Amino acid sequence: MPLLVTGTVGIDTVETPLKRVDDILGGSAFHFAIAASLVAPVRLVAAVGEDFPPDLKKFFDGSPIDTTGLEIRRGSKTFRWHGKYFDDMNQRESIRTDLNVIAETPPPIPDGFRDSEYVFLANTHPDVQRGFIEQIRKPKLIVMDTMDLWINIAREELIRTLGHVHGVVMNDSETRLLTNLRDIIPSARAILEFGPQFVVVKRGEHGATLVTRDELVALPAYPTTTVVDPTGAGDSFAGGMMAYLASVNRTDTAALKAAMAHGACIASICIEDFSSFALKRG
Ligand code: AMP
Repeated sequence: MPLLVTGTVGIDTVETPLKRVDDILGGSAFHFAIAASLVAPVRLVAAVGEDFPPDLKKFFDGSPIDTTGLEIRRGSKTFRWHGKYFDDMNQRESIRTDLNVIAETPPPIPDGFRDSEYVFLANTHPDVQRGFIEQIRKPKLIVMDTMDLWINIAREELIRTLGHVHGVVMNDSETRLLTNLRDIIPSARAILEFGPQFVVVKRGEHGATLVTRDELVALPAYPTTTVVDPTGAGDSFAGGMMAYLASVNRTDTAALKAAMAHGACIASICIEDFSSFALKRG
């Protein structure tokens, strides 16, 4: 079944305790698409500026990622993010976020993509995420992600968007930030009250927890020996998860559990190198 992702495609600067790398490909939709494309074809909708490195499209060459919805907007600048990891690579801070083209009118979903049944709203402004939902004709499963920035600056909009999705994938620290609750399960349950049928709480090296109204499922992370750069792990997890669901065309809890295992394996590859280079190598 067709799988669509919207979100950011951008340029990242990443600092880990061992190395700093400037100007590498990144963005929530970018990481998702590369990961998901290992399992199923993906339709990508995002906008970048005219400063975007010309070799971007080459990165997608040979992959089943349909870039019809990737707009290169003249006169605009690409989204940029600078993140820094602490000695504990589960923790990071955003040093700088330049929204640039993300703060402008969002790219439209191409007509040929509006029949997508599986939709992932990767990180971007929650109002933009809701605008995308309105353009999809008959979605079977809409899952969203979010980030500390949007919880801090667009909390009400985020809560409104949560009322229009089937599921949400969030970091443990973000569930706490959104609900002001310290423990993961109560905070995920509080998020269910906003509307979604399930919450997947991503917990870094501690795995992921699925919370529905009547089930709780804990899944360990796939053990990785080489953690080079955790950036994109969450998006890659979601990419593997959503691509599995789209490929089996199921949305029940049993399928979700298998999908999370796919996501965990793919995320473990993502973190073996900067950007999505390890996933690209396959
Ligand atoms: P993850 O490590 O899975 O949370 O995703 C990191 C990616 O998200 C990076 O490649 C960034 O470019 C992108 N990103 C960072 N901040 C934001 C934001 N506020 N909205 C959308 N994407 C973001």
